[in-house]
Amino acid sequence: MAEKDFDIQFHNLFAITNLPISRFLDYLIASENYEDYMYSLVEAYNPEAVKNVMCRNTISVSWDGWLYDCDFNQMLGLKVASKTKHIKDYNEELLQNRQIIISQHCYGCTAGAGSSCQGNVI
Ligand code: SF4
Repeated sequence: MAEKDFDIQFHNLFAITNLPISRFLDYLIASENYEDYMYSLVEAYNPEAVKNVMCRNTISVSWDGWLYDCDFNQMLGLKVASKTKHIKDYNEELLQNRQIIISQHCYGCTAGAGSSCQGNVI
């Protein structure tokens, strides 16, 4: 379709799960699709994907220096669960040993082949 309609060819396409937060969550609820969408993510849960979710090797830094497990947690205002919460206090050891804050939206990263900013994780 993209080539026929727009003369665009994709060579290295990343597939990223739309996580149920913010505007997409609002849409899911308003359209009464929230339960079905969450059911699909939970049904597709893959423990292998958990090993490589991006919050295990990357942190997200906001424009004003606060630290988050990922950009999704940043959008939700969930700062890292660590004594080090700001880039000015950066401490590798404390951050490596923190508990990652997870919630229902994390099923989006662990469904099927997983999902991250660079596409699947398996
Ligand atoms: S949404 Fe959850 S699983 Fe995905 S990167 Fe963020 S904290 Fe990790």
